[in-house]
Amino acid sequence: MKIADIEVAWIQLPLPVGRGLSGGPITSSTDLVCRITTAGGLRGIGEARGASLPVMAEIVDKGLRPLLIGEHAAATQYLWTQVEDALLGDDHPTRPKTWERRAVLGAMAAVDLALWDVKAKAAGLSICRLLGGKPHAIPAYSSSGFFVEGQSLEAMAEETLEELNARGFRATKTRVGRGEPEISAARVRGVREAVGPDVQIMVDANQAWDTGEAIAHARAMEPYDIAWLEEPLPSPGRPHRRTREVKDWDAETGRVAAHTTIPIASGENHVTLEECRDLIDKGHVRYVQFDCTKNGGVTEFVKVAAYAEAKGVLLAPHHVPHFHVQIAAAFPHACWVEAFDNAKQHVAWAQDLFPGYPEVRDGHMECHDKPGWGLDVNDRLLKEKGTLVHWRA
Ligand SMILES: [Mg+2]
Repeated sequence: MKIADIEVAWIQLPLPVGRGLSGGPITSSTDLVCRITTAGGLRGIGEARGASLPVMAEIVDKGLRPLLIGEHAAATQYLWTQVEDALLGDDHPTRPKTWERRAVLGAMAAVDLALWDVKAKAAGLSICRLLGGKPHAIPAYSSSGFFVEGQSLEAMAEETLEELNARGFRATKTRVGRGEPEISAARVRGVREAVGPDVQIMVDANQAWDTGEAIAHARAMEPYDIAWLEEPLPSPGRPHRRTREVKDWDAETGRVAAHTTIPIASGENHVTLEECRDLIDKGHVRYVQFDCTKNGGVTEFVKVAAYAEAKGVLLAPHHVPHFHVQIAAAFPHACWVEAFDNAKQHVAWAQDLFPGYPEVRDGHMECHDKPGWGLDVNDRLLKEKGTLVHWRA
C-alpha cells in the first residue's frame, strides 16, 4: 500500500455550443486527472476542478508528489494534514506565489480522491460501502436552462423539457441572474409552464447579485414553486463582480434566506469545512453543495456531511456526479446529485474520459458496487487531447 507514483494530466475541450451562466458563457470543458499507483500495483484516480489546471497540476507534481511517495496510501487524514501543514501552514517559504489556496485545495482534492479509490480497492469495497453506505440509485436533477446565445425563452423551456423527459428526471435546474427580476420570473414561469406542476425547479444565480437584488429576484420567482435558489451571492472573501465590495457574504446569504420563502442552496465555492460551517450557521442554507473535486476530497467532505447533519441541513453535492453519487449514497441526508446532458453540456466528454460513468435511468443515477469509484481513465483520450504533466500511458 506504499505510494509508488502520482501521475497528473489535464484536458480542455471546446463545447459544441457555449452554455451561459449569469456571468458569461462556458465555452470549453476542463479537468485535471490524477492517478496514484501503489508498490503492489493498485491504482486509484481522482479529479480536480475550480482553479487553474496548469497550476493545480504543477502543485500535484512538484508539491504533493515529493511529500507522498513512499507513504501508506490508506492514511488519508494523516496525509491530508501533512500536505496542509506543508503547503497551507503559516510557515511555507518555499510555496510559489502562483500556488494560491484554492489551487492547493483542488490539488489536494484530486490526490485525496485517488487515495480513497486505492483504499477502497484494497478492501474490495465501493467507496459507498467503505463510507458505511449501501449502494443505491440517487435522485438526480437535470442541470439545464442555460443562457445560450440567440436562444429564445420558449426554446430554452422546450429544451429543458426535452432534457427532462430524455431520462425521466423529476427535477430540473434553470440558470438566472441576468437582467431584472422580471427576467428571472419570466424564465422560471416559462419552465414551469413547460414542465407542469409536478416537476421540481431549482434556480442557480451563480453569485450574480448583491443582497437587495437577490431578495427582489427571489420574491419575483416565489409564485412558481421553486425548490431552491442557488448561490444568490458571492462566496466568502470574494468581491462582488460589479461593486468590488467584500462583505460577510455568508451573513448576507442569511439575510436573503430570511426575506424569501424559497430555500437557499450554496456551497460549491466554499472550499473548506470552516467555510461550510459559516455558510450553514450564518447563511441559513437548506442545502449545502460541497464539491469534493474543489476542496480536499472525501476527507473534507465527510466532515462537512457530519456538520450538516448536526444542523439539520441537507447535502446536494455540486457537479461531478460520477464521484458524488458514491458519497451521496452513503449519507441519508444527501438528497440530490446533479446530472448533465452528456451530448451538449460541459461534461460532454466525461463519459469518454471516465469509462464506468454511471447512467441515469428514471431520474435516478445508478451507484456502482464495484471496488473504489468504479471508474477508469481513458488513457487514449488524455494522450490525444490532454496535457500530460507526468503520465505513463
Ligand atoms: Mg451552481
